[in-house]
Amino acid sequence: MTEGMTHVERVMAALTNEKADRLPAYPIACGVNRKLLNGGKGVSYRDWCHDPKLFAQAFIEGQKYFDFDFAIGLMDLSVMAGDLGAHVRMDEENTPFVDKHIVNSLEDYEKFVVPDIKKGRSGVLIEGTRIYSQALAGQVITAGFLEGPLLALSQTAGAERMFLDMFTDPSAIHKALKVITEYDAEMVKAFGTTGCNGLCWDYLWANYSCLGDAEYGEFEEPYATKLNKLTGENGMALAIHNCADLPHLDTQIKKFKPAIYSMAYYPLIPGSPSASEVIEKGYADNCLVAGQIDPQLFIRGTVEKISKVTSDLCHEVKTALCKRNLNARYCIASGCEVPPDINTKLENIKAVVDVTKKEGRLN
Ligand SMILES: [Zn+2]
Repeated sequence: MTEGMTHVERVMAALTNEKADRLPAYPIACGVNRKLLNGGKGVSYRDWCHDPKLFAQAFIEGQKYFDFDFAIGLMDLSVMAGDLGAHVRMDEENTPFVDKHIVNSLEDYEKFVVPDIKKGRSGVLIEGTRIYSQALAGQVITAGFLEGPLLALSQTAGAERMFLDMFTDPSAIHKALKVITEYDAEMVKAFGTTGCNGLCWDYLWANYSCLGDAEYGEFEEPYATKLNKLTGENGMALAIHNCADLPHLDTQIKKFKPAIYSMAYYPLIPGSPSASEVIEKGYADNCLVAGQIDPQLFIRGTVEKISKVTSDLCHEVKTALCKRNLNARYCIASGCEVPPDINTKLENIKAVVDVTKKEGRLN
């Protein structure tokens, strides 16, 4: 009896490699869900990301409208930088971004202080996660979303500067990373009280285009290992998102052992791992891998185009899983967040879910 499972049953089956009715589906639609609020008139990005109730309601409405298998509460990647003191440019409708970093000299890395996580957008993120996790409990698997230490530091200090300073004065970088890890640890403990089932980490810099194993092993792995452990200790499943072109899969999947790994695919970059390669190389053996539809297709593609891409991905994945003797160990998802842009087509998000319901069927 595997036909017509509930979302939770399907995801639990996928996570434990039991038989499931179909592949799970989760285009990473987060900020874009705000378009469903206010009776379909929507609310601005600015309002959405400052109000825990609006933040949460978008995920609740998104679930009702799209019928996802997960709800993962990503806000954007300038939450921590902003609360650490960097200036965030906040337009009405665009994803906010840091336009003034706070590191102008090596000494500035020593000035980092853990902010009050009840204030600022950290507080909105925690309280918003609490509201949608409780509202969606039992309906879907929910997860909070948090920036890893190296990502938060690059957003606060500026990525270019941080990568240069890593070589000139690694100890300065470590001082800042220690403080950001404490900040992350406080966030983990707070997420642990919200009722979310998992916590999804954005460990973006595990990317061979930027860092080798030695550098990643020095500048993030020890901090991430500690935070991953803390995630479990606070009752949440470990999920990782990394939309790098050349992700460190051995470290992030085999060593970190997340329950879910969300990744992207860059067909034009040699060595970027496709869905079937990831499965064939054994990375889905003990982990639910999610990916890898190009997020730009949600703005630029037609329903027909994105339906074809989704259908092709379902078949590619099912063939690879079958060869490896795996069940539903792949979630049809976007490679990164569906752009929260006002021009993103909601019908394209719906198409990914609806096509997966048919073409992702397993027997
Ligand atoms: Zn991403």
